[in-house]
Amino acid sequence: MSEPLDLAVRGGTVVTASDSVRCDIGLRGGRVAILAEDVPDAAEVIDASGLLVMPGGIDAHCHFSQPSYGGAVCADDFESATRSALCGGTTTTLSFATQVAGEPLRDTVAAYLASADGKAMVDYGVHLILVNATPQVLGQDLPALIKRGFTSLKLFMMYDGYHAEDKQIIETLDVANQEGALVMVHAENHACIDWLSHKLVAEGKTRPHHHAQSRPMAVEREATHRAIALAEVADAPLFVVHVSGREAIEQIAWAQSHGLPVYGETCPQYLFLTAEDMDRPGFEGAKFMCSPPPRDSANPEVLWRALTNGTLQILSSDHSPSRFDGPDGKKANGEDAPFTRIANGIPGVETRLPLMFSEGVSTGRITASEFVALTSTNPARMYGLAPAKGTIAVGSDADLTLWDPQRKTTLFNALLHHNVDFTPYEGREVTGWPVKTIARGELVWNDGVILARPGRGRFLARGTPEPVLQHQRRKGLKPGCPPTITMN
Ligand code: MN
Ligand code: MN
Repeated sequence: MSEPLDLAVRGGTVVTASDSVRCDIGLRGGRVAILAEDVPDAAEVIDASGLLVMPGGIDAHCHFSQPSYGGAVCADDFESATRSALCGGTTTTLSFATQVAGEPLRDTVAAYLASADGKAMVDYGVHLILVNATPQVLGQDLPALIKRGFTSLKLFMMYDGYHAEDKQIIETLDVANQEGALVMVHAENHACIDWLSHKLVAEGKTRPHHHAQSRPMAVEREATHRAIALAEVADAPLFVVHVSGREAIEQIAWAQSHGLPVYGETCPQYLFLTAEDMDRPGFEGAKFMCSPPPRDSANPEVLWRALTNGTLQILSSDHSPSRFDGPDGKKANGEDAPFTRIANGIPGVETRLPLMFSEGVSTGRITASEFVALTSTNPARMYGLAPAKGTIAVGSDADLTLWDPQRKTTLFNALLHHNVDFTPYEGREVTGWPVKTIARGELVWNDGVILARPGRGRFLARGTPEPVLQHQRRKGLKPGCPPTITMN
């Protein structure tokens, strides 16, 4: 007779990336202990009848507790961001530690981890952002950090002071691949944006909607193509973040059709917003500004196809918390500021899953299993968290989100738990709602009530991302560190 269960989730339909089955789940010690038609009595029982029981969401691309950029302060720290995450059914976040030029990378990372202490309410992994890939960084610091579980890093191909040149990108791809990490790129052409922005401002075209004109799809297409070519030359896998639409997708699909290990994500802002949203009167358009920008109204359909045919594997939020009002938000430089001086980025860590569930699962556009794959299982595999995260299996972490597929909710910022004073989805009705969130066996969100305590979330030292492992196997190289169920 085995030890008693801590918690039993009874009567629900358990959905994984492969199956939907009627079964109970027994949890013990923060993990899934039993999957069965009936589980024995437990200290606590949750009735999940009528609900879908899914792996907790993994938001693989969010920004919080980051240094300010362009006059705007990052409004969410680890506490408010992870609180917002769990209320939206997300049990794991991956956010970024940004290299500070002139400071040892390990110090930057230590400071970022310290900012999570006593604050994180769900488990978290950390990506690196490299802005200056010096020989010291590539030769010493990065390999050491990869061994400590920082197995992914982002490079920018744009933003003044941040963007990497082609040679740095190749060198970084090479080192990351050898050491077992995945490179993520923000693919937009720096020179084009710079030239177009100056031209637009000189012509007096400075309103929020001109932001979209400063970075048309060709800008993203070129950088995506170039990043793919650089990865091909370096013989390394590549992950393209926040793919906004058609022309970048064509590049990724082309790479995949040539057998190249190229992967990508998109975000709700490209599925549910368009460039026209930035046309709203006054300064309202600034609420929809992000990079790359939302595109034309035909574009979302292209993205849905890419998400369902496998070209793109992940839906992340790219949660970038700039407030709207106040001296350190989007209005920091005044409401007449040109678009070049308005903080980019929109919040979305809490709305990602409800929007996707509603527009994807409730409409029948995708299956519940496809939803789980895009929002939890694929991010876990892509970033070295599987199989402890991203699925419901015996031994996996008991990170579960219970969905009421019928519940209708109207999204208002007042309903959300981030520290941002707006949501771009204000007034939108969704069907399907995460009514309970369980994180490592603990009920942390119970239909409007937050039960988690700050500091309960743990740092996740991640294994080698699956694309890197697959690539090494194909090349007959010694595999790195395969993920295991006991990784934490
Ligand atoms: Mn980016
Ligand atoms: Mn981002």
